[in-house]
Amino acid sequence: MYDLILDKDQLRVADEAREFAKSIDPALLRRMDADEVRYPTEYVVEAARRNLLGLRFPKEYGGRGLPWVVEMAALEEIGVLGTSLGCLASLPSIVCEGIAAFGTPRQKEEFMGPILRGEKFCAEALTEPRGGSDFFGAATVARKEGDHFVLDGQKRFVVGAEGADVFFVYARTGDGPREITAFLVERDDSVHVEHVYNLLGTRGGGTGRLVFKGAVVPESNVVLGVGRGAEVFNAMMVPERMTSAAGALGMGRAATELAARYSTRRKAFGKPIRRFEAVSFMIADALSAVDAARGLTIMAAKAADKAGNVGAGIAEGTTVRRLVSEAKKAATEAGWLAVNNAMQVMGGIGYTQVYPLERYLRDARLSLIWTGTNQIMNLLIQHEYYREFQGSGPVGRDVEMDAMDAESGADEKVYE
Ligand SMILES: Cc1cc2nc3c(=O)[nH]c(=O)nc-3n(C[C@H](O)[C@H](O)[C@H](O)COP(=O)(O)OP(=O)(O)OC[C@H]3O[C@@H](n4cnc5c(N)ncnc54)[C@H](O)[C@@H]3O)c2cc1C
Repeated sequence: MYDLILDKDQLRVADEAREFAKSIDPALLRRMDADEVRYPTEYVVEAARRNLLGLRFPKEYGGRGLPWVVEMAALEEIGVLGTSLGCLASLPSIVCEGIAAFGTPRQKEEFMGPILRGEKFCAEALTEPRGGSDFFGAATVARKEGDHFVLDGQKRFVVGAEGADVFFVYARTGDGPREITAFLVERDDSVHVEHVYNLLGTRGGGTGRLVFKGAVVPESNVVLGVGRGAEVFNAMMVPERMTSAAGALGMGRAATELAARYSTRRKAFGKPIRRFEAVSFMIADALSAVDAARGLTIMAAKAADKAGNVGAGIAEGTTVRRLVSEAKKAATEAGWLAVNNAMQVMGGIGYTQVYPLERYLRDARLSLIWTGTNQIMNLLIQHEYYREFQGSGPVGRDVEMDAMDAESGADEKVYE
């Protein structure tokens, strides 16, 4: 589908990402899933060496200055590797959004460049044991002491935590409900990383719990300003959701290909199972869902590009926020449907470890939960829609008066 909208040079970048995904040794995926690899350092370094991290950021910091749509095409290719490797390739895109949009020149030099060049590894720490959906409920506290802050608290489910050198952390800096601040926290002895989870999937990506015990963070590592974490968070939610969408589409696509191939070889009742409509229609349903979601995802990417790419256009009440949330929801649901259908097409063998579908199933399930649950996506979608709608009214013709009894029934329009 990207063939329809990308030019030749842009398609070459997507091809590079495809080649990168093809180059990954299956043994790495297996060892990660077996929890033998805790953090695949070489993988991130190789992605950076191929200049595939944070494609839309300026060249001077290690990006390629490309539009969102190209990044989405590339991340879909990498998404076929599953959620762990997909996320590790996406984290620079997420973390560097905050730095690119709001960071100081020093923060860009010291963090963004090294992250995109694969010299420093990053993670984003937002979720806390007390909850991830309620951003403003954060309980991690940052206390100002002289020219630095002291952080105390915990974050959980942080992908990449085990390998990260720098964490993008939100902490409370006041008693007011919105007094949250974004920090770049470098790993040191006061930042403890604990490997505590027996995850259903998404293994080997270094997901851990962070415990800050008097972690000292220089004031110069505050991003944007004290108490301005919400603005940073709003900007970073765009790459969070876009990258989740791209990864889920990659998994859905790969699972469908696997099942389609199987259905042409596997026979039942003397003929290939694809000849049974019950089977081939599951492929059709998966394809339709993934293609529709990709269409929406491309639209969201275009909207983000139009809004000004990095760090812009994500103010509340803008269409891009709604589209990005819709894309995350639609793509992750499509990916989940496609993986489930693929397993159904393959029958019992799909449920074994002979094929990687069971891993996709475990991975794809997370997509509905992380980077904001799909219920939270609904919350945002309706919120933005009502806001847009109340601002402008119906987009086109107001059809209310087209009803047969619109005039005679005016008295029947009772609203309270
Ligand atoms: C493997 C893994 C990796 C992760 N990676 C990261 C990471 O790298 N960094 C990071 O910061 N976080 C990460 N997360 C956390 C993830 O984003 C959160 O789990 C998710 O946002 C939900 O938060 P929660 O688990 O605290 O659930 P809760 O916020 O407690 O929500 C529980 C349920 O209540 C629903 N709910 C809550 N509030 C509302 C509401 N207002 N309206 C409707 N429904 C609501 C939710 O949809 C959900 O169904 C990861 C999680 C996992 C499992």
